[in-house]
Amino acid sequence: MYRTHNCGELRISDLNKEVTLSGWVHKSRDKGFMVWIDLRDRYGISQLIFDEKRSSKDLIKDAKDLGREFVIQITGKVIERSSKNPNLPTGEIEILVSDLKTLNSSKVPPFTIENNTDGGEELRMKYRYLDIRRNSIKDKLIFRNKVSSEIRKYLSDLNFIDVETPCLIKSTPEGARDFVVPSRMNSGEFYALPQSPQTFKQLLMVGGLDRYFQIVKCFRDEDLRADRQPEFTQIDCEMSFVNQDDVLNTFEGLTKHLLKKIKNVTTDKFLRISYEEAVSKYGSDKPDIRFDMEFGELNSTAQNKDFNIFNSAELVVGISVPNGNNFTRKEIDKYIDWVKRPQIGAKGLVYVRCNEDGSYKSSVDKFYDQKDFGNWAKSTGANSGDLIFVMSGKKNEVRSQLGELRLEIAENLGLRNPNEFAPLWVTDFPLLSWDEESSCFHAMHHPFTSPKLDQLDLLKSKPGEVKANAYDLVLNGNEIGGGSIRIHDKNIQSLMFKHLGFSEKQAKEQFGFLMNAFEYGAPPHGGIALGLDRLVAILDGNESIKDYIAFPKNNSGKDIMIDAPSPISKEQLDELSLSLKSK
Ligand code: ASP
Repeated sequence: MYRTHNCGELRISDLNKEVTLSGWVHKSRDKGFMVWIDLRDRYGISQLIFDEKRSSKDLIKDAKDLGREFVIQITGKVIERSSKNPNLPTGEIEILVSDLKTLNSSKVPPFTIENNTDGGEELRMKYRYLDIRRNSIKDKLIFRNKVSSEIRKYLSDLNFIDVETPCLIKSTPEGARDFVVPSRMNSGEFYALPQSPQTFKQLLMVGGLDRYFQIVKCFRDEDLRADRQPEFTQIDCEMSFVNQDDVLNTFEGLTKHLLKKIKNVTTDKFLRISYEEAVSKYGSDKPDIRFDMEFGELNSTAQNKDFNIFNSAELVVGISVPNGNNFTRKEIDKYIDWVKRPQIGAKGLVYVRCNEDGSYKSSVDKFYDQKDFGNWAKSTGANSGDLIFVMSGKKNEVRSQLGELRLEIAENLGLRNPNEFAPLWVTDFPLLSWDEESSCFHAMHHPFTSPKLDQLDLLKSKPGEVKANAYDLVLNGNEIGGGSIRIHDKNIQSLMFKHLGFSEKQAKEQFGFLMNAFEYGAPPHGGIALGLDRLVAILDGNESIKDYIAFPKNNSGKDIMIDAPSPISKEQLDELSLSLKSK
């Protein structure tokens, strides 16, 4: 038997027990006549003591020979510590060792296995198995498991069944490139790894399974943005005989349950706002509503004066910064420079100080009077003591620029508290968006999303104006899930493919199986997928997902521990009928 207890569970109530523990040598202190060792496993740390008076010479010598991260097994008696450690659950006791066995030795680890380690990110990724020994990573993986098992329980109780769908499939368009896998047995042919199980979960509904879920890996070959992983995990769900409200209510229930169970946070009914409202109020389709700073549109009061920049703009829009009148000129200038950075791309930023005495002072005093500023204050909700920032330009651009500024200011003012949770639904997305480059429509969500049923006529005449039965779940400024009610009618699906630039032949080749299925009594259905990695990170008060994934890829999409991707042999290439272009 390797152990009677783990390293985190012994207490003062266990005094005088004879115990056996196994674990890693975390730290040792050698006082010559006495040796203390912190023995660590997943559950905690127990202190071992060896001393000249009570232990044999050989035993003390063996203890002194142990290096960091050696794996050992000990037997000994639980005794009371003379100097107790109140910060450790096992801090009142120690184990007087009578027997020590080294189970495995260890090289000196390349970084310290401590909460605050001296290892840089690349080094820690190369030795990820050592990094996982650190509490800060281990606890995150345990936290992830807590969330995912809660999700499984919740959905199973609602009659969702967990069904596995294949990984070697044909392309499912979710707007990214596919990772492809060559087929040896079918020379010159390729599988695609799923960007999501979208078509399969719809087929499960045609199959009559009614409620499906899967915690599933998805693969998207995108240019990597910070904190994106080429493979990631979704909580993928589908339901039959539901409308949009049914899906929203079900997954609002799940999210509330998780917030309560995991964070002990009770949330009210989630706000539901349309896409149009989200972008016009917050400049984003995933607004962070932990704080206000809603946009005020100022065209009617800022245009037709002498300020040409505003006159010629499609939209003039402002936000009020709470207590922003405290900003120094230097701080204001910093924000002006900030919006002019290429990543934001704005031309400038106008400010209006709302003084305590009710007067206004601005960077455009030449063109506007106090009454104008009063109107701006009314539209942006500014009170005395606040500061109004105003931007102008093309509608979509200026909204997203001001949206970025809103987040930046909130971050700097400490308004984005990670322990506060502000979920909401964004609904009524446009069905299609026009792509100039390919001069055809792209699906905003994916090609299987149903238009609003009362807009079916528009789909023929003005497809660009049609709204989708699609929705996103947003938490603290992050899209944590998205889904839609699906098309279940073959003719509407064909029309959709046509708008998306597919010829009839192409549509049949790529999605014939789905269209065929729709001819055999497909039930109305809809669903959603939540991103598990991000959801877990946010619930744990973090924005970065990497540490919640046991073996993540680095920012270039590489696993530097196993060295993937990597070249394959000539023989393997030949077998797969592949040849490499010589560089
Ligand atoms: N398949 C979609 C996605 O991965 C989710 C859904 O529509 O259910 O975003």
